[in-house]
Amino acid sequence: MYDVKGNLRKVLGDLPDGVRLVAISKYHPNDYIMAAYEEGQRVFGESHEQELRQKVESLPKDIEWHFIGHLQTNKVKYIAPYIQMVEAVDSLKLLKEINKQAAKNDRVIKVLLELHIAEEETKYGLTLDACRELLESGEWRELKNVQICGLMMMASYVEDEAQIRSEMMLASDFFDELKERYFKDDDNFCERSWGMSHDYPIALECNSTMVRIGTTIFGPRVY
Ligand SMILES: *Cc1c(COP(=O)(O)O)cnc(C)c1O
Repeated sequence: MYDVKGNLRKVLGDLPDGVRLVAISKYHPNDYIMAAYEEGQRVFGESHEQELRQKVESLPKDIEWHFIGHLQTNKVKYIAPYIQMVEAVDSLKLLKEINKQAAKNDRVIKVLLELHIAEEETKYGLTLDACRELLESGEWRELKNVQICGLMMMASYVEDEAQIRSEMMLASDFFDELKERYFKDDDNFCERSWGMSHDYPIALECNSTMVRIGTTIFGPRVY
C-alpha cells in the first residue's frame, strides 16, 4: 500500500492552525481511507454519488463527508441524509434542491459556492458576476435548511505559479467583498476552499481555510 499514514502526517505538518484538510478519497479503496482514519483524519471528500454511498455504508459513522464534484439536482436526494457539506454549488436551482432535500431529512446542510475563475472552459462554477447576482436576489435567505459557509474554487492547472496565485487572490478578495456585503454578521461564512495536491502551498499563502488533497496522500487514482 501507498504510505498513506506517512503522507498524511506530512501534509498535516504543512498546514497552519485554522486550515482544515479534506482528504479526497475518490477512486481510492476503503483500506486507504481507513489508514487515514486511523491517523485521526475524519473529513473526506468524494465526487460521485454511488461511490460515496457505498463508502458511507461500510466505513465508520463519525466520518464527515464532503461532496466536492459537480452535483446533479436529481442526485441530491441520495446524499441529503448524511452529507455534511456540498462544496460545489453553482446555481440557485441546486441550492434550492439541497434545501428541499435537507428539509425532508430534518437537517441543515452546509454548502460552499463554487467560483469559476480558472481559464479552462470545461470547469463548472459561478462567474463572479453570477455569484453576485445569486446573492443579490436574496432568495437564499429564505432557505432555512442550507447554510452558506463560504467559497470554493479550483485554480487553473498550469505550471505558472503567478497565475495560480493571482486566481486564488482574486477568490480571496471576492470572499472579502461578499463577507462585507452579505455575511457581515454571519460567523458561519468563513470558509475558503482552495488548494489541491499540486498547488496547496500557494493556497496557504492565499488565505485558504480548507485544502482538498487526494494524490499527495493516497497516490495516483486508478480509474
Ligand atoms: C479530485 C479533486 C481534488 C483533489 O485533487 P488532487 O490533485 O488529487 O489533490 C480536489 N478538488 C476537487 C474538486 C477534485 O475533484
